[in-house]
Amino acid sequence: MTQDLSDSQSRSPSDLFPEALLEHHGKRVFAPMARWKSKKQIPPVLLITGQAGIGKKSMSRYLAEWILCETPPPGPIPKACKLCHSCLSFASGNHTAFTEVAPEDDTESLKIDQFRELKATVGFGTYHHHARVILIPQVERMTPQAANSMLKLLEETPPGWQFLLTTHDSTLLLPTLVSRCQMIRLKPLPTLEIQQLLHKIGVAPARATVCAELSQGSWDRALRFADDDIWEKRSEVLKFIETPHLHCSPLIDWATQKISHFETLVDLLEQITAELLAWSSSTPLVPPEEFPWKCASTHPTLTSLAHHYQKKPARLESARHFWFQQAERLGQSRHEIHLPLNRKILAQDLLFPWIGAPT
Ligand SMILES: [Zn+2]
Repeated sequence: MTQDLSDSQSRSPSDLFPEALLEHHGKRVFAPMARWKSKKQIPPVLLITGQAGIGKKSMSRYLAEWILCETPPPGPIPKACKLCHSCLSFASGNHTAFTEVAPEDDTESLKIDQFRELKATVGFGTYHHHARVILIPQVERMTPQAANSMLKLLEETPPGWQFLLTTHDSTLLLPTLVSRCQMIRLKPLPTLEIQQLLHKIGVAPARATVCAELSQGSWDRALRFADDDIWEKRSEVLKFIETPHLHCSPLIDWATQKISHFETLVDLLEQITAELLAWSSSTPLVPPEEFPWKCASTHPTLTSLAHHYQKKPARLESARHFWFQQAERLGQSRHEIHLPLNRKILAQDLLFPWIGAPT
């Protein structure tokens, strides 16, 4: 497989959003949508939440296309006709009534200026059927100034305007913003479903199994792990855990290159620390070879590491404390990666402590 599966931006929404994903998320989205539509009142600000990479943006785009469609087919499932003028404009990426607000630079934050332009159009222009859909993915990336500047518009949405916001963590948003939203929560995908989907798009069965296990219910994450470059790096991270001082520098360089690399590193370390914490917290301590390690691909490394600590009970407690600290640090770094911070320093901050881990 040579395809760059992580390059999801260049694919069309329908490629990104396979039927099975639509069916899975549809269970939570379509019933309220149909109910609101029958009352002719879709809440003007919808906040779609759920863990990172499970398809919140794709679901929002699907809904946007349907809301703007001129002749949506009748039926219980909201669906765009794909044939009308609106659907064709949507597919070409040039729909005048659809706006997606994305970061303009690599700091990944949504700044106040980006919303000034949007607000300037209130009351101007005749939009398609007077409807307008504004998608703000990962709305937690809004700077506080930008979020504050949008509160009034979200409180008093112009007629026909529909806001679709997404976030992986609504606690990162201003409470005053959340209070203006109707929330819909999407659930992670079952591992087996992800495995079958990966298999369908041509990922080899053994790789599909591991990627599905590592995905933690996220389709984006599963695609990322299936990518050749990242697949190769998986073993480097395991080597790093075994002998951190030997593998630290190349891993830092790699994680610094791209956000997707950094996120992969965090995903893998999080999975490893979570497994080690679960094992070390078992009472009485389960022999490593009998422990139900969740991910088959990291099983041998973790078993051998756990054996090492099992032989040194005095060190186990400090190791457990270390893993706990690292788990907390990893959680923080998910937020920090989107701040204007030096990525190399962040990667060093995550990896250097492992060199001094209790042995
Ligand atoms: Zn249509």
